[in-house]
Amino acid sequence: MRSTKLFVLLFAVAALSGQSVSRSGIHVADMDPTCKPCTDFWRYVNGGWMDKNPIPADKSGWGTFGVLADANRERMKTILDAAAGDAQAKAGTDRRKMGDLYASCLDTATIDARGITPLQPDFDRIAAIQSAKDLDAVLAGFQRRGEPFGAANGVVVGPFRLTSGQDPRNPARVMARIVERDSAGRTGSSIFSLPDRDYYVKTDEKSRQIRAAFLEHAAKMLELAGSTHAVAPEQAKVVLDFETALAGSVMTIAEKRDPEKTYHPMDLAGLRALAPAFDWALLLREVGLPESTPVNVAEPEFLKKVNQQLTAVPLDQWKVWLRWRTLELSAPYLAHPFADESFHFRGTVLSGVQQAPPRWETCANVVDQDLSDALGKAYTEKYFPAEAKQRMRALVENLRAALREELEQSDWMQPETKKAAVAKLNALQVQIGYPDAWRDYGALQIDRGKWFENVRAAWTWGEHYEIARIGKPVSHVDWAMTAPTVNAYSSAADAKVVFPAGILQPPFFDMQADDAANYGAIGAVIGHEIGHQFDDGGSKYDATGTLKNWWTDEDRKKFDVRTGCVVNQFNTLDVGEGLHHNGKQVLGEALGDLGGISVAYRAYKRSLVGKPEPAAMDGFTADQRFFIAFARVWGTQQRAEAMRLQLNTNNHPISKYRAIATLQNIPEFQKAFQCKAGDPMVRPDAERCRLW
Ligand SMILES: [Zn+2]
Repeated sequence: MRSTKLFVLLFAVAALSGQSVSRSGIHVADMDPTCKPCTDFWRYVNGGWMDKNPIPADKSGWGTFGVLADANRERMKTILDAAAGDAQAKAGTDRRKMGDLYASCLDTATIDARGITPLQPDFDRIAAIQSAKDLDAVLAGFQRRGEPFGAANGVVVGPFRLTSGQDPRNPARVMARIVERDSAGRTGSSIFSLPDRDYYVKTDEKSRQIRAAFLEHAAKMLELAGSTHAVAPEQAKVVLDFETALAGSVMTIAEKRDPEKTYHPMDLAGLRALAPAFDWALLLREVGLPESTPVNVAEPEFLKKVNQQLTAVPLDQWKVWLRWRTLELSAPYLAHPFADESFHFRGTVLSGVQQAPPRWETCANVVDQDLSDALGKAYTEKYFPAEAKQRMRALVENLRAALREELEQSDWMQPETKKAAVAKLNALQVQIGYPDAWRDYGALQIDRGKWFENVRAAWTWGEHYEIARIGKPVSHVDWAMTAPTVNAYSSAADAKVVFPAGILQPPFFDMQADDAANYGAIGAVIGHEIGHQFDDGGSKYDATGTLKNWWTDEDRKKFDVRTGCVVNQFNTLDVGEGLHHNGKQVLGEALGDLGGISVAYRAYKRSLVGKPEPAAMDGFTADQRFFIAFARVWGTQQRAEAMRLQLNTNNHPISKYRAIATLQNIPEFQKAFQCKAGDPMVRPDAERCRLW
């Protein structure tokens, strides 16, 4: 049985490189030979490139992911310039919509001339609120539409967002969810104006500076929108106080990682008991859902706090906050004084970016987000070769087989846990390049002269799309990432891993390169995504994507000890300026990296069975090239502000430490570069983390 599989896999792997290997896939000129590999492997691999490529003024960081994303954006530009200039494109077609959306964004003269007028209807609605009943009606109405903010997961004006999500106990169905912000890594998809809860409550110098800068920013923006110079700072203070009160009651990002802690299904009576001050029936009616719709409230404590705000905070303050949120979320899409002020705070203060990107880049990004499937289809038709999909699939299957072997050979799991783990691995769906079906934008209207209305229409279309899924079976076709994205993702509830076309290029994946580099780069990415199915959160879902325990108690305890090793590693790792990661917050990603490199290495070794020892290339052994390619993926440097933002809000470790901390645990790496005990790249045996 196994030998048959092995044969199939070897055959498939042979096809990965076939006759066409023409290069090692590593870039010696990018390295820094003056740095010792066992001292700082990240610098050793990327130092040459980083010295020659400082962070551009319009970026918060710069490296492998960003360079490739820029190249993909240039390709999008080719498509969008052609679509915008195509006078023959028929009305109502995707091509026409893409071209019109892009052109409306580039037309800054019209955008500037319109000033604040696109928001006037919203301001009027908010100003007309006279009673708690009016407030409920406005809040419920805002839930029907998405804001143009461009957050990866959608955002609305109001103290919570009604959206959809898989029912964790029945992953075949989509249910309604009430959230206040999505999990980490999606800054902006939140009801808060500051990046996360800690920004409101921490008392250190840096946090106080950011709050002071926020007050200035909010006052300036409110003044631009018509508040007097005297009143604007008072309004800014109202905004900060309002959000601070809410922030105190939300979970930390680390706490939110536990899917069991964010599962609280309830009916209308439950919602009324939890937050009686709000008219929940009105909300359901407003978004077109029956009163019998079950709703999963991610954070009940938070809704209680919202209820308190509804009863205790004067209407005038609610109106200031709603006006502010409308303005803040729309500002990047308004006339330049608003867009510039928004950039000053979000780009410069929070991320250290010195200068806004060229207009066309902003526009291409918006089309990529807002008409993702129209652009994704055009992009993949033009730039994604069919053979890349086949070869990638072969590689994924080889990784899957290697992990199966790792699970089966693990010396600490009991047979029943192993069996369930392997069943989960076997059931995992793999989607590569682009979705199997594209979304239909038929109902979305795009007007070449109305940029702001276009982006809001696109996000409102997105909100409708989300809400229309509620109560229906899950679509496994839908993707949470666009096809040109340089990234990949894993969904435990959907029991699938997704690799967009955008990442399936050098230096991640190179069809002309030798296997060692491909396994070290895209192989580790595949291993990382598959690994998420078994991380602190993913491991709580079974083979069907149900939130259901499949571990024996004893094995779960052992698993927690093993993952605790990684938490401790990141908690204690010094990242400079006295800063550290929050080990629990980054645990899932760190586990993905650790498991990913291990399984990719095993898969690479499996691919060599029965073949002669691979020759050295570019002066490096195959094992060395494998690890060099891995560290190249994480060759990104960041501005100090962006690093702080990431440590505070993101569940991904800093790139540098994704390379360093991961490899510190890998004996095969240390052997390949003859590192010795005591070298910085070697963790002492007793502290070394290993998952399986
Ligand atoms: Zn990840």
